[in-house]
Amino acid sequence: MKFGKILLILSMLSFSACATSSDKDMKSASAPKGTISLSFDDAPRKSSFFSGEQRSKRLIESLKKSKVERVAFYVNTSKMDKEGAERINFYAKNGHLIGNHTHTHPMLNNTDLYDYIRDIREAHEILEPLNGFEKLFRSPYLREGNTLEKRDRVREDLDRLGYRNGYVTVNNYDWAMEDLFQNAKKQGKKINFDALKRVYVDVLVDSIRFYDDMAKAVINRSPSHVLLLHENDLAAMFISDLVKALRKDGWEVVSPEESYSDEISLYKTSTLFVGNPGRIGEIAKDNGWKLSKLWHEACDEKYLENLFISEGVFTK
Ligand SMILES: [Zn+2]
Repeated sequence: MKFGKILLILSMLSFSACATSSDKDMKSASAPKGTISLSFDDAPRKSSFFSGEQRSKRLIESLKKSKVERVAFYVNTSKMDKEGAERINFYAKNGHLIGNHTHTHPMLNNTDLYDYIRDIREAHEILEPLNGFEKLFRSPYLREGNTLEKRDRVREDLDRLGYRNGYVTVNNYDWAMEDLFQNAKKQGKKINFDALKRVYVDVLVDSIRFYDDMAKAVINRSPSHVLLLHENDLAAMFISDLVKALRKDGWEVVSPEESYSDEISLYKTSTLFVGNPGRIGEIAKDNGWKLSKLWHEACDEKYLENLFISEGVFTK
């Protein structure tokens, strides 16, 4: 039986067991669209517009102000020099989850299997003693390898270490928006920060809707989503605005653990992806969806550059 069908049956069972007609009326009037948790990859990223310390402070203050109690930071331990380690401890001290994103951020598709496993283990040794560390692993570039052997051997090794997959459900190119911003700064372009905020927030909210619609089509419900973000300057500047927009759009922001308690966390794709659209895209592909349908239109660097220009973030 297909995974989607199993979930459909489960969701029908729970619906008929729990919902009364008055529950239903209340839900349609005020209930959120669903739940979503936030995750920030590549921490601690090097400083750019902000210093690393400024970025971390800004991010934590904004999350606090927005009453987001727990997010996940996926860490590359090779960046944990004295300042980097302080920033990771600062995140943990503020109640956030610390996950493994490898030591040096290699791409499994072009890395030797054993070098890759060593890289995961090196990160594990460094992270294990830290407060806030949980055995969640997110693959760099979301890539699980270019051969079945690599994919399955890494999965086995992670299982042996007791890790769970820190998958995302909402893929997006926030990193490309960050690059466009940083490059424009370097080139001395004048940035319209209001337009930048609007584009960042709108692209992310729209990408969540896109993957949520995909989920409704393939598993017949809205799962607890996991939003991919990076620990970058745009997040430090605009995370409060993003959280506000998410809530306005009907999303409740929850902890990473709550998202990863969704049944889709147990899913293992049978497809070998070159890129990876995220967990919903994996399920869609296994249900016969075409690869070209699995990415939101803004997962495209040229599209984003044109959008930045047309929305007046900077001029050409
Ligand atoms: Zn990464």
